[in-house]
Amino acid sequence: MVLALIAHDKMKDAMIYFAKKYEYILREHTILATGTTGKKIMENTGLTVRCFKSGPLGGDQEIGSRIANGKVDAVFFFRDPLTAQAHEPDISALLRLCDVYHVPLATNPATGELLIKAIENGFKK
Ligand code: PGA
Repeated sequence: MVLALIAHDKMKDAMIYFAKKYEYILREHTILATGTTGKKIMENTGLTVRCFKSGPLGGDQEIGSRIANGKVDAVFFFRDPLTAQAHEPDISALLRLCDVYHVPLATNPATGELLIKAIENGFKK
């Protein structure tokens, strides 16, 4: 499966923890990420990540385009709901596309745990 991982700055530590904890599952899949999230995941795990642009520079839109083209099977987007994001329109657009195309989307680590375990157990979109 193709999995997209994105984390806002205050959620990056949570994403790294998540990627380490579930590296044994993630390494069986193709991992996409926004620039900084992907870089940090690669620095802290043995995973290979296809990195797009940083979120504020268009990375969310690049991943959104792949969702619209049926090329992403699940999204882990750990959002920071307490801090205003300069690229909020891009974020909303990405979340919307997940709903348009029924792509499973985890917006916090708790749902992320549920989704990754479903994937481990053979869930297919
Ligand atoms: P980043 O982008 O991984 O490049 O920080 C994430 C985002 O803010 O959408």
